[in-house]
Amino acid sequence: MRSTHLHELIAVSSHRTSEGLVAYFRCECGAWEVRASGGADVAIAATRGGCD
Ligand SMILES: [Zn+2]
Repeated sequence: MRSTHLHELIAVSSHRTSEGLVAYFRCECGAWEVRASGGADVAIAATRGGCD
């Protein structure tokens, strides 16, 4: 397991929802992160590490 890689997340898209703005970020290693802002908190989902 790698633990030293720092994800370099780049915003790829964002959408407005009733909960606020949901933004999708992607790292070159393949990891994804979904952040919801404007709501009560920030949700991180669908995040995975490198797969080599
Ligand atoms: Zn990464």
